Amino acid sequence: EPGIYSLELFHGPTLAFKDVGARFMARVLQHFIKIGDDRRKVNVLVATSGDTGSAVANGFLGIDGINVHVLYPKGKVSPVQECQFTTLGRNITAIEVDGVFDDCQRLVKSAFLDKELNDRLLLTSANSINVARFLPQAFYYFNAYSQLKKAGVGESIVMCVPSGNFGNITAGLIAHRMGLPVKRFIAANNANNVFFNYLQNGVYEPKASVSTIANAMDVGDPSNFARILDLYGNDHDRITSLISGTTYSDGLISATMADCFDRTGYLLDPHGAVGYRALKQLLLPGEVGVFLETAHPAKFKDTVESMVNTTVEMPARLYAFMRGTRQTIPMTSEFSDFKSYLKQL
Ligand SMILES: *Cc1c(COP(=O)(O)O)cnc(C)c1O
Repeated sequence: EPGIYSLELFHGPTLAFKDVGARFMARVLQHFIKIGDDRRKVNVLVATSGDTGSAVANGFLGIDGINVHVLYPKGKVSPVQECQFTTLGRNITAIEVDGVFDDCQRLVKSAFLDKELNDRLLLTSANSINVARFLPQAFYYFNAYSQLKKAGVGESIVMCVPSGNFGNITAGLIAHRMGLPVKRFIAANNANNVFFNYLQNGVYEPKASVSTIANAMDVGDPSNFARILDLYGNDHDRITSLISGTTYSDGLISATMADCFDRTGYLLDPHGAVGYRALKQLLLPGEVGVFLETAHPAKFKDTVESMVNTTVEMPARLYAFMRGTRQTIPMTSEFSDFKSYLKQL
């Protein structure tokens, strides 16, 4: 569509942008293990509500000296997402927690704080707060800019980022600080609107997340908000002059997917749809917009097909996961049980 570009970040093994950061982190860690003199295995603990677990597990798959333990809430992860980390085997163990995502997160955090465990084991985190995950993401902003420049559109570029924990947009802001000549950013949100509200009135009020069809962005207290504040010296004016925001209901997101497909034939996933709509709403005359397409629509096949009048083809890579045998260790939400599991490693 004239003036609007999609930066498709879903061409990696698990079909979401998180592959970029997770794979980079896995290889950096492998490098430092090899040159270090501690010969113990590293244990990566990761709590997931879906996409993070699959990207991290696939990023570390088969890497020598590292074991990954993925904790996920029983019955709360889509079947496609679940098979992407429960069928891998080798150095990846899936742990099904009888609880919600917050329980998984709590178990992992408690393990990092437990002295006895840390004396025995090398434990590390792989959630998006880890700089080794978000720094490599700065590269694709430069890559997008260079592609546009080659195509003759290097001026007045607006980067629009569908946001949840705000790691992805923070990587863009750091790219900007490094010199990337884009004009401004849009943080596009679903109904979870704490950042949008902060932009409007300067008050940051975290709240419980609400469930939406763009579920990877259901975050009520984004963990990278502090980084954004820090980058701009806590200055609300500086932040609002560079970043604007939007917030959309599920109804608007699905209407956007249907409308875009009908007019252009381009199939958005629910997260990318939030970004596309934000550009349609906020792009000014003379500006060129790029929205980040953060996942392949087939990852949300049922949702997408119920809203857009078409069938979504499953990429072969997704099928391959779905044919595998699901293997998982059941776990209660009690830390003492998780600790016993870790102690016998
Ligand atoms: C994780 C995720 C997001 C949100 O990215 P943040 O870095 O947390 O803001 C958006 N879309 C998809 C598909 C995701 O998996």
